[in-house]
Amino acid sequence: MNIAMLLDMATAGNPDRVAIGSRASGTTSAQLRRTAGGVAAVVHRAGARELVFAGVNGSAFPVLLFGAALAGVPLVPVNYRLSAEALTGLLGHTEKPLVVADEAFAGVFADAGLDVRTPTSLLAEAHAATPAEGLEGSADDPAVLLFTSGTTAAPKAAVLRHRHLTSYVLQTVEFASAAPDDTVLASVPPYHIAGVGSVLSNLYAGRRMVHLGAFEPGSWLRLVRSEGVTSAMVVPTMLARIVEHLDGRPAEVPTLRSLAYGGARMPHTVLEAALRAFPGTGFTNAYGLTETSSTIALLGPDDHRAALASDDPAVRARLGSAGRMVPGVEAQIRDASGNVQLPGVPGELWVRGPQVSGEYKGAAAQLDADGWFHTRDLAHFDEDGYLFIAGRADDTIIRGGENIAPAEVEDVLLRHPAVREAAVVGVPDEEWGERIAAFVVTHEGSAVDAESLRAWVRNRLRGSKTPDVVVFREELPYTPTGKLLRRRLVAAAQDD
Ligand code: AMP
Repeated sequence: MNIAMLLDMATAGNPDRVAIGSRASGTTSAQLRRTAGGVAAVVHRAGARELVFAGVNGSAFPVLLFGAALAGVPLVPVNYRLSAEALTGLLGHTEKPLVVADEAFAGVFADAGLDVRTPTSLLAEAHAATPAEGLEGSADDPAVLLFTSGTTAAPKAAVLRHRHLTSYVLQTVEFASAAPDDTVLASVPPYHIAGVGSVLSNLYAGRRMVHLGAFEPGSWLRLVRSEGVTSAMVVPTMLARIVEHLDGRPAEVPTLRSLAYGGARMPHTVLEAALRAFPGTGFTNAYGLTETSSTIALLGPDDHRAALASDDPAVRARLGSAGRMVPGVEAQIRDASGNVQLPGVPGELWVRGPQVSGEYKGAAAQLDADGWFHTRDLAHFDEDGYLFIAGRADDTIIRGGENIAPAEVEDVLLRHPAVREAAVVGVPDEEWGERIAAFVVTHEGSAVDAESLRAWVRNRLRGSKTPDVVVFREELPYTPTGKLLRRRLVAAAQDD
């Protein structure tokens, strides 16, 4: 199945329902299908083999995603915030691209001698064109190429084929299940898998999408209220900014029934503050990777409520869990020798299923002989099948031969009342192999010194897990999709 089939189904089921934009003047699914066919004609006429998109999330993105699918070429959304050098580096991976770039980013591509259109000019051409039909290709063709975040290594282009993305949607979303007034607010950038997953699943469910191009907490709250938004997805740094903006006040968003978060570990302090600020909203933690076509485990609203209300420490701990695997995805925790671990025992997470691609452009297959993909996340399951993610295995600090997961030390630091954000990294050290450096952002008006924070950790964890140095910062470096840039902190600690 091609992802364009999802659009065809939505159009056949509900042609006049607004799919994108305001209720009064938005684009219906039938109009979206027509324009996507026009985009396919333009792509075909240009002889392009890939459609590159460098733009903020907005109404053009769904049109381009389906337009590329109807033209039988992959869409390649790229991070428009990258430097000109990094962007042209990424394009070294692309073949005969047609580039669609927001006005602000178009210059870089034109300077590199590429065929560039703005969304406005491309859509005008698409409206004038006769929609292309019959070019869409097979389920096995690449639908999207997405560059991974590259927090630990140079970015790689993950290949998601039509069959991966359609499996994800068919397994996790009920067709046409949205009520007529359901509205989702999309604020995650198009170059992140959650941006792609959100277009496909909301269109298939029949839920209207409204967009916030550049995230800002005040605008996010205003848009939720003015558009009567019923569901939204945010990365942890966005939720942290919303909570900070509210500063203890309730969010006052009566229509918002569901708020999903994911993409990185959620600090428990932020989640607890958010649960207080959004008392009428159901929270969902969604865990997934680019290589797994988005979400593979979910902790739903009932689990959040049960964990909050429970006196049982094992149930209460589930507020920090990524929930249970979604249908169709199998999971194993393995140790370094590949032995499958029992519940409660940590190791690395391996997953398998029709939505798992695990393929990078220009690289050999990443799945093992039985089709399992190594997520490289440290994790364990509890007795009831709840998944706990402790961060990337590559971030493990090895100090004096002992393996230390940064998340364990970060969680303890975050429990200190003066600490707002914490990041712990390993820095090369002649004596210990690596020493532990903690970067800390304190709450406004709070003061704490390095020695007290070291004592705080020493009293709660073993002495060997105590940070050797504590560095205070005004802010920590994150990607726009909420991932901590640990490499930058390691470099900063080495320079100090
Ligand atoms: P990416 O493919 O760049 O989106 O990165 C995927 C990685 O983000 C995963 O391997 C996890 O380390 C992390 N991640 C994604 N979602 C969650 C979540 N809900 N909780 C904790 N970590 C997450």
